[in-house]
Amino acid sequence: MTTPESAVYPPSEDIVKNAHVNAAKYDEMYAQSIENPEKFWAEQAERIDWIKPFTKVKNVSYDFGNVDIKWFEDGQLNVAANCIDRHLETRGDQTAIIWEPDDPSDEAKHISYKELHLRTCRMANILESMGVGKGDRVVIYLPMIPEAAYAMLACARIGAIHSIVFAGFSPDALAARINGCDAKVVITADEAPRGGRKTPLKSNADAALLHCKESVKCLVVRRTGGQTTWIDGRDHDYNEMALEANDYCKPAAMDAEDPLFILYTSGSTGQPKGVVHTTGGYLTYAALTHEVTFDYHDGDIYWCTADVGWVTGHSYIVYGPLANGATTLMFEGVPTYPDAGRFWAVCEKHKVNQFYTAPTAIRALMGQGTEFVEKYDLSDLKLLGTVGEPINPEAWNWYNDVVGKGKCPIVDTWWQTETGGHLMTPLPGAHATKPGAAMKPFFGVEPVVLDPQSGAEIDGNGVEGVLCIKDSWPGQMRTVWGDHERFEKTYFSDYKGYYFTGDGCRRDADGDYWITGRVDDVINVSGHRMGTAEVESALVAHAAVAEAAVVGYPHEIKGQGIYCYVTLMNDREPSDELLKELRQWVRTEIGPIASPDVIQWAPGLPKTRSGKIMRRILRKIAENDFGSLGDTSTLADPSVVDDLISNRANKG
Ligand code: ATP
Ligand code: MG
Repeated sequence: MTTPESAVYPPSEDIVKNAHVNAAKYDEMYAQSIENPEKFWAEQAERIDWIKPFTKVKNVSYDFGNVDIKWFEDGQLNVAANCIDRHLETRGDQTAIIWEPDDPSDEAKHISYKELHLRTCRMANILESMGVGKGDRVVIYLPMIPEAAYAMLACARIGAIHSIVFAGFSPDALAARINGCDAKVVITADEAPRGGRKTPLKSNADAALLHCKESVKCLVVRRTGGQTTWIDGRDHDYNEMALEANDYCKPAAMDAEDPLFILYTSGSTGQPKGVVHTTGGYLTYAALTHEVTFDYHDGDIYWCTADVGWVTGHSYIVYGPLANGATTLMFEGVPTYPDAGRFWAVCEKHKVNQFYTAPTAIRALMGQGTEFVEKYDLSDLKLLGTVGEPINPEAWNWYNDVVGKGKCPIVDTWWQTETGGHLMTPLPGAHATKPGAAMKPFFGVEPVVLDPQSGAEIDGNGVEGVLCIKDSWPGQMRTVWGDHERFEKTYFSDYKGYYFTGDGCRRDADGDYWITGRVDDVINVSGHRMGTAEVESALVAHAAVAEAAVVGYPHEIKGQGIYCYVTLMNDREPSDELLKELRQWVRTEIGPIASPDVIQWAPGLPKTRSGKIMRRILRKIAENDFGSLGDTSTLADPSVVDDLISNRANKG
């Protein structure tokens, strides 16, 4: 497959002038970070306050059978003190968190660093009074409310390890995660308002706790005041206890390699993995990437629309921004409630400067038309970001033109739950952007493109293969909770001596990186290897198509055939003519080799709760193998799958 021509958008002079990192500085810092990582990261770790300074920087083995990753191992620090206490003197009255509720007619809250300190200390004291101590696990099952941040920071303050479960998950998924880490306490709320509906979180927790040890306690935040059942002794009322709790709690001195949190991956490719992140390296990396990638400056209003149930919410709503003394916006609602203009209404209302969201949200809003964006004053926006999936050039262009008015650089940040922070992204003041490209490695990150069969490094530009990372970086995961063997097997066994990302990538003629999707999603049609993302992008570029997912299926002649699931724009209807037109369209856009064998109209696509398309399920449907769909516990809307099965297209 030839590399498609791409538009290139160099950074504007204005942005270059004011940015933390310009092109020359990036080159210099990147070179240092690779040539002398010990020196580079020792310097970067100075952005953190250490209770006991470290003397060792890096101690890493990628040897299969003995994988061991340590950063700053003899240092001690406290993450909550870094995110709150050290800012009190200089910015105690500055807003730390802006909270925007689900219902726009409810009042937003502005929580200062002082108040954040008070609330976190009280929550920490409540947890201690419930018997939680250093190293104990706490499951957090909360809506996007400030108490979710207090809970995370309270755990960090006393050295407890949190594991956040997205509030949209079922009692079964919650029970599995409570038992998986043997949690002492679950923190939940009465109800979670979202998109005008309420999820009964407490009764979900009640149902989950039936399958857990009797000793597990439940701390309940009153969000709506809705009725809940109550078990005395087990259930604790947060709002009542907070009235009595002491206003100060001393931050615990934690070792740099003590676990900070456990978090499960999204489950796009299989059974979710309980990723473990530790303290010193993670915080250093989250803070540095937040400042540099988003070019965050003092006084900026920064908004990441993710949920704290995903790693993006951990690193880029809470830990990174707060470590930097930023003002971070936390949104309880959804992009389409009360209508498809909500994101932009919030941007206008709070004068948002940096806005960070996922391609799935952009594609959904793009399908609703531009009038929802144009109603609002977005003149405070300086930068846009995306994360979670490859972004199709079509969606990128819409984001750039309609939302950013062509003046906001787009940082397409490639990373994973496992990586703790961004591994590849353009930096706004240093790099040009290209629609759909992750562009450049972050400091300390050495990407390599490997031949999928031989595992040999492919040098030079204009090449494609499996994406691995050569050495460690401080934000890297340390293990899979309770299963170090799975950790080694998943990430270090296929390509020895490297961290295997599971993603494919292309290094284009300019040396810039493009994520081509999961390695599992590469298909081989008559001997031609292609990423399904490429065919999807071509489909989405057609005016009638809102979203598309492409998978391979066994084909007698070609080896693999191309099976496309297509969601049309709101105002378009399926027809045979359109089907023919789309087939022709892809042939013209990419070439006859990419001609779709099957197109199935899909009113909805199976997605994870974080909005990623679950291609593994679509593959099964295309293969006519409905019996073994695998783990579907993280699916957002299971009914979508039934619909796709019953309307499965005849292969022709
Ligand atoms: P699981 O590992 O359980 O299958 P998952 O990989 O979807 O789930 P996450 O850690 O949430 O879990 O997602 C990381 C993956 O998302 C990356 O490996 C990559 O495939 C994709 N991704 C994230 N950001 C980008 C991006 N900017 N461009 C392309 N792909 C991205
Ligand atoms: Mg993954």
